[in-house]
Amino acid sequence: MDDPAGQSTVPDYAARREQMVRNQLAERDIHDPAVLAAMGQVPREAFVLQPYRAYAYDDTPLPIPANQTISQPYIVAYMIAALALRPEDKVLEIGAGSGYAAAVLSRIAREVFTVERHRKLADFARERLAGLGYVNVQVRHGDGTRGWPEHAPYEGIIVAAGGPAVPASLRDQLAVGGRLVMPVGRSRRQQHLIRVTHTEETVYREEMLVPVAFVPLIGDEGW
Ligand code: SAH
Repeated sequence: MDDPAGQSTVPDYAARREQMVRNQLAERDIHDPAVLAAMGQVPREAFVLQPYRAYAYDDTPLPIPANQTISQPYIVAYMIAALALRPEDKVLEIGAGSGYAAAVLSRIAREVFTVERHRKLADFARERLAGLGYVNVQVRHGDGTRGWPEHAPYEGIIVAAGGPAVPASLRDQLAVGGRLVMPVGRSRRQQHLIRVTHTEETVYREEMLVPVAFVPLIGDEGW
């Protein structure tokens, strides 16, 4: 097509984001208005590496530094919706990666704490979140299988990497009434999403949600 100004080579990210929310989320089974609004707001293109920016709104995970991946938009929305967050909630994320899911969480909850074991990624996430002015997120470099006890308890805990079992430290840091979502499985690459609800002081209810494939959770209470 004729395009002397080269306009069509500049992708319209806002339009693509809107389409992603409609086609990949709302038309599937994501109905939580807060989740749809947050996914419609956060620029995923800012969290992927330059060569992948054009694919930022594709229905797929994408590579990020340190051999890790930014999850498929649908999975991010699905996991966050499963937490059923309220605006006053405090959330812990394990596996900050690019910082994208933390950014989405920060548009829904009051405060977000996220831990990342790769220093390079912790820096990557911190820079991007700061650049977008998402000031209610704190990023820490370290082993997230131990959680972040200084800010516990959390009404929501989301683990973005797959482990053999839910770490006891994370259960302990879950507020009564709170929910934790994590990929759990015997294989390092294939898991089921598990939701743990802390119903009473000593009672935790566990549900198996959908099959997923996450990178491994590596640490003291992981692989
Ligand atoms: N939420 C991220 C996706 C992260 S992929 C995003 O939106 O981009 C999973 C991440 O978990 C990887 O970055 C990996 O380095 C990290 N990870 C694995 N084990 C970890 C651990 N024990 N503590 C903290 N981060 C961990």
